[in-house]
Parts: sequence; structure tokens; C-alpha cells
Amino acid sequence: MARIADLLAAGPTYSFEFFPPKNDTEQATLVRTLRELEPLEPSFVSVTYRGGRASRQRTYDLVVGMLKTTALTPMAHLTCVAHTRLELAEILVDFRKAGIENVLALGGDPVSEPDLPEAELRFADELVELAHAIGGFSIGVAAHPELHPRSNGDRAADRARLAAKLRRADFAITQFFFRVDDYLGLVDDLRREGVDKPVLPGIMPITNLRSAQRMAELSGCAVPAEVVARVEAVADDADAVWRVGVEMATELCQGLMAEGAPGLHFYTLNRSTATREIYANLGLAPAA
Ligand code: FAD
Repeated sequence: MARIADLLAAGPTYSFEFFPPKNDTEQATLVRTLRELEPLEPSFVSVTYRGGRASRQRTYDLVVGMLKTTALTPMAHLTCVAHTRLELAEILVDFRKAGIENVLALGGDPVSEPDLPEAELRFADELVELAHAIGGFSIGVAAHPELHPRSNGDRAADRARLAAKLRRADFAITQFFFRVDDYLGLVDDLRREGVDKPVLPGIMPITNLRSAQRMAELSGCAVPAEVVARVEAVADDADAVWRVGVEMATELCQGLMAEGAPGLHFYTLNRSTATREIYANLGLAPAA
């Protein structure tokens, strides 16, 4: 087990994000994906969290399972939504007891489940403070290159809040985006606020234009016209769409690394092929 802050201090990190499976089919897919991605020796992997009753346990179980049965360094996501402060403190204590040292502290997306408590913490920065109070964690936070969807376009306020949050955390991971300049704009804004903590760019290859556009809408980021045009030019051929998606993600990663990004964080959606192809294109796969 390693602390992500220490891994980042030692050099670029390459990490993969997964969501906890909800049924046996998803479980089988994830097991296969982990088997295919573990040989790439990622610096760490992260596991998303939903505030609903059943899903809470799933993140814990998956992260602890990874700790016990793989060589991976896992990070648990945790969100403020639908939790009391005491519940969040209990979850963090359970994480520490299980040996989990890395946590991504998030505001969280709304959960539509009846009879859950009102969130007592409103924003991620309060969860960062709680994790500090429990102690022993390397703490990450989320960043949004194209601003958080609820920021109403108020760039200065959104960046100032992110800077304040990141000052108290060890690193940030971004929402996915498609232009190197969006990432550089975020990092520049943070520097102007006096914050130079590592910001890991989140990479999501487009393998299907419609679902990428749907996800982008939900996440408050735009799929740029030039990206849409490249995919639409081959829209009739699913294999070509895949190829172009991997090619564009590879170019994005190359641009980010050339600009000195401290690593790359891949949104895998619990599949391995696109990530493995980008890894190979970047020459990152460990020698056999
Ligand atoms: P927060 O820091 O909580 O900020 C949210 C908004 O409130 C911003 O507009 C901010 O400017 C504003 N704000 C912050 N502090 C204040 C303040 N003190 N006063 C007034 N306004 C304030 N969601 C999940 O549910 N589960 C996950 O596992 C998950 N993983 C994610 C991983 C990554 C890498 C990313 C980028 C996002 C993830 N999300 C996840 C989504 C995230 O929870 C949502 O973006 C959520 O809407 C906000 O959480 P946050 O931590 O990004 O923002």
C-alpha cells in the first residue's frame, strides 16, 4: 500500500478509475478487466462511491478486496451527499482500520433514494477537513477544467473555491475534457491563486459519440466541434470510431505529458481495451 502523495512526489503516476459492480454480470466484467489491467502496473486505482444505502458497502468491499487480493494501490472515493457528519467519520475510520490510506473527498452527485439523511456537509472542502481530523490519509479532490456545472460560469469564484480546497488536500483529479488548453487554463488559474499541488488530468476516450455526448452533458463539459467532426467523419464504421477515439485520447495524453502533467488518470468505465490501446500507443506498457 502506498500514499498517492508519495507516489506523485516520486514521478508521474498512471491510474485507472472503476465503479463498484451492481450485479453478477458487472462483477464478472470487472474481474476480467482487473485481470487485464493489473499487468500494466498502474500507480494506483480508484473506486467511485454513491451515497445510496446498498452502494455504500460496494465501494468499501471492492477497495478492501483489491487490498487483500491484488498488488494494486486503491483509493476510495467518498461523497458528502445523504450522510451525516458522524456517518462520514465512521466510514473514514473504517477505511483506516481496513488499511485504506487514500481517499478522494467529493461533494457528490445527488442520490434519489428515500429516507436517506440530509447531507450535513455541503461541499467537498468540509470532507477534506474531516479526513484530516481522522488522520492518516493522502487526500485527493475533484477539479473541473471547464468549471463545475453549478458554478453558473463564475470562473473566478469556482477557481478560488477549488484553490482553497486543494490547498488543504494533496492532489486533484480532473473531470474528463478534450483539449490540452482546458487543462492548462485550470493549472494556470490555480497557480495565480498560489496553488501548485499536482492536478491529474482525467482521460476518457470516446468509443461511441452519443454516449460520450450524454456523459459530457451530465458532467458539464463540452465535446468540442473538432472532436465531434473527427468522429462523425467515420460515424458509419464502429471500428473506425473506436480507432479515432483511441487516437484522439492518445494525442491528448501526449500533449498533456509534453506540458508537464504529473500523470494521467483513465476513466475506464470498467473496460480494459481502450486503456490498454492508449497505454501501448504511449509506450507505457511494462516490458513483458
Ligand atoms: P465541491 O468542491 O463540493 O463543489 C461543488 C460546487 O459548489 C462548485 O460549483 C463549487 O464552486 C461550489 N462550492 C464549493 N465550496 C463552496 C462553498 N464553500 N460555498 C459555496 N459554493 C461552494 N460523484 C459521485 O457521486 N461519486 C464519485 O465517486 C465521484 N467521483 C468523481 C471523481 C472525479 C475525478 C470527479 C472530477 C468527479 C467525481 N464525482 C463523483 C462528481 C462530483 O461529486 C460532482 O462534481 C459534484 O457535483 C461536486 O463535487 P466536487 O467535489 O466536484 O465539488
